Amino acid sequence: MNNRSWTLADAAPLQTGRFRTLQAPLRNWQKESSFIGREQRIGDASKPNSQVREPGPKTSRLLAVFHYHEVTKMNLDWRVCSRARLSRDARFDGKFFIGVRTSGVYCRPICPAPTAKEKNVRYFPTAAAAAEAGFRPCLRCRPECSPGTPAWLGTSNTVLRALRLIGESALEDGGVEELAERLGVGSRHLRRLFLRHLGATPSAVAQTRRLHFAKKLIDETRLPMNQVALASGFGSVRRFNAGIRKVYHRTPTQIRRLVRQTTVQPENEYFFHLRFRPPYNWQGMLAFLAPRATPGVEVVDLGKYRRSISLDGQDGYFEVSLDQEHNSLDVRVQFGEPRALFFIIERIRAMFDLNADWPAIVRSLRIDPVLAQRVEAYPGLRTPGCWNGFELAVRAILGQQITVKGATALAGRLVKMFGRPFAPADGITHLFPPAEVLADARLAGMPEARAETIRALARAVCDGQISFDRIVELDRFLATLCEIPGIGTWTAQYVAMRALGEPDAFPSGDIGLLRALNLSNPRALEERAEAWRPWRAYATMYLWNVRGEAKTRAGRPALSKTKNMTMDEASSYENFSMAK
Ligand SMILES: [Zn+2]
Repeated sequence: MNNRSWTLADAAPLQTGRFRTLQAPLRNWQKESSFIGREQRIGDASKPNSQVREPGPKTSRLLAVFHYHEVTKMNLDWRVCSRARLSRDARFDGKFFIGVRTSGVYCRPICPAPTAKEKNVRYFPTAAAAAEAGFRPCLRCRPECSPGTPAWLGTSNTVLRALRLIGESALEDGGVEELAERLGVGSRHLRRLFLRHLGATPSAVAQTRRLHFAKKLIDETRLPMNQVALASGFGSVRRFNAGIRKVYHRTPTQIRRLVRQTTVQPENEYFFHLRFRPPYNWQGMLAFLAPRATPGVEVVDLGKYRRSISLDGQDGYFEVSLDQEHNSLDVRVQFGEPRALFFIIERIRAMFDLNADWPAIVRSLRIDPVLAQRVEAYPGLRTPGCWNGFELAVRAILGQQITVKGATALAGRLVKMFGRPFAPADGITHLFPPAEVLADARLAGMPEARAETIRALARAVCDGQISFDRIVELDRFLATLCEIPGIGTWTAQYVAMRALGEPDAFPSGDIGLLRALNLSNPRALEERAEAWRPWRAYATMYLWNVRGEAKTRAGRPALSKTKNMTMDEASSYENFSMAK
C-alpha cells in the first residue's frame, strides 16, 4: 500500500458515521497514517452541522463502490503530505489538511504548533472532509485562512462548477437539490462526485465555508456578532452561535477576545488577508492589469490595485496589495452592506486567481521549451480574472482590433459618459455603467458595428439571456455569447479565461500567440497547445508576456522585473480578434 498513492476510496470509512469517532477501531489503512485524495475546497471548511450532515452508511457504500471501479490519479500521496507537513511547506497549504488524533483538531500543513507524530495524524483532501471525520479547526493555524481549492487535472468539471456556485451563494437558496438541478445532475450523483473529489458532501462543504467565513469575520473585523451571523449566511444568530460553539467549544465573543486587534477599523471598512500558495507573481499581475485599468474605475498604483464596486444598489470599493511575508494578499473593502462581504471576498479571490496550484500548472507548461524558459524566469504568474463579467466582456469588445492603450482610453470615455460618479478613493471617480445603461447608449469613438455589439450584449444581459454569474454549462454559455453579432470565438475564449476563470480557455486565433511561437496558423497553435492542457490559459499569459518582453528589448529599457513582465499594447491579442 505504501507503493501507491492513497485514494479517497482508501479513506472511505473516514467519512462514515461508523468511524467518525476518534476512537474508531484501527484498520490497515489507518495504521499507515491515512490518505490524501483530491484537492481541497475554496479556503474553507470546518465541522458540519448535524442537521446538514449526510447519513453515514450511504456515504460509505458509495465510496466502497468507487474502491472497485475507480482508479483515481492522485496528485499527492501520504508520503508527500508527510514531508510537506514536517517541513511546514507553504506550497502545500490548502492542498490537504491534517487531522491530529491526540488533540482532535485539524491543521494546515504550515501549522506552527509542535509537530505531531506520524502515527497520530490523518490526511484529508479538504477541511470539510476533516470536519466530517470529527476534527475541529485548529485555533493556531486557522484552517479558514488557507488558500483555496486548486483547479487541477482530473477534477470533475461538475464539481468545479458546483464549488463556484456554492461560492457565489453559500448554498443558501435551495440546498443540494437545487444545486444539483442547476448543474443538470441528480443530487445523489452530485453527492457522490463531491465525496470522490473532495471527501465531503456538498452540504458539508457549504457549511464549512459558512463557518470559516464567520470565523474570519470574527477574527479580522469588528463587525457586531448579529451582523457576522447574517454576513456568513447563517440565517439566524441562534444558529450561528450554536454552530460556532459546537465547533470551537467557545462563544463567538470568546473567540474574538483571543484576537488582539490593534488597529481600529473605520465603519464599513473591512480588512482581510487572503492566502495563496507561493510562488505568486504579483508584479506580473499588476503589469497585466495596469495598462488595462479602466480610467476612473480601476487604479493600479504603488503596488496596489483598487476599484469601485456596486452590488444590489450599494456602492463601495476595495484595494488589494501584496503581503509577501505571509503569502497573502491584503484586501481592504469599504462597503455598506456586510452581507455582501462573502460574495465580494470570493470574487476577489477569483479575480486574483488565489486558488491556483503552481506546481501542477508548471508540470504541463515546462514540456514546451518556449514556455519552460518563461516559467523559469517568471514563476507564479496567474491568470487575472475580473470583478464583473459584463464589464470585462464590454472591455474585450472595445479592444477588438485596436491597441490596449486605445481600448483603455475608449473605456475611460465610456465610463465618463455613462458611468455614475462615485469618488471614494484616490483615482476612482466613477462606477462602471451597468448593462441597463449601455443597452441603448449612444457610444461614440468606435465603429457603429462595435457599438451595436456592446448594446446587443447589454440587452442580452438585461433580458436574462446571458448571465455571467452562476454559469453551469460553459459551452452553452459561450455559444449564446457568440450568437451576438460581433462576438466570435476569440472574444468568447477571452471571456471564459478571465470572467469565468476557466484554466483551459484558449484564444487560439490570437495573433500575439502565433507570433510568440513563430507559427503561421491557429491550427498549428492548437496542436502545440494540446500539451499544455488543462492549463492553456496560463500558457496564454506566458506567451503574451513573451511578446511584451520582446518589445521591451527592442525599444525601451528593461528597468526591472516588472518592466519585463509588462504586457503592454504589444500584447496584440487585442489587435486581433476572431470576432467578425
Ligand atoms: Zn494548527
